[in-house]
Amino acid sequence: MRVTITLACTECSARNYMTTKNKKNDPNRLELNKYCPSQKKVTLHRETRS
Ligand SMILES: [Zn+2]
Repeated sequence: MRVTITLACTECSARNYMTTKNKKNDPNRLELNKYCPSQKKVTLHRETRS
């Protein structure tokens, strides 16, 4: 049930992280606060289809 997803920065749209999630636990789009290397700060990252 685990699917691969990409996490993209919501401020600059950079795709900074690849991870997996469990569809049963997270049926909606994942949103995580992650470090964005291009902005050098923590921003909200959202799941995106690759
Ligand atoms: Zn960014």
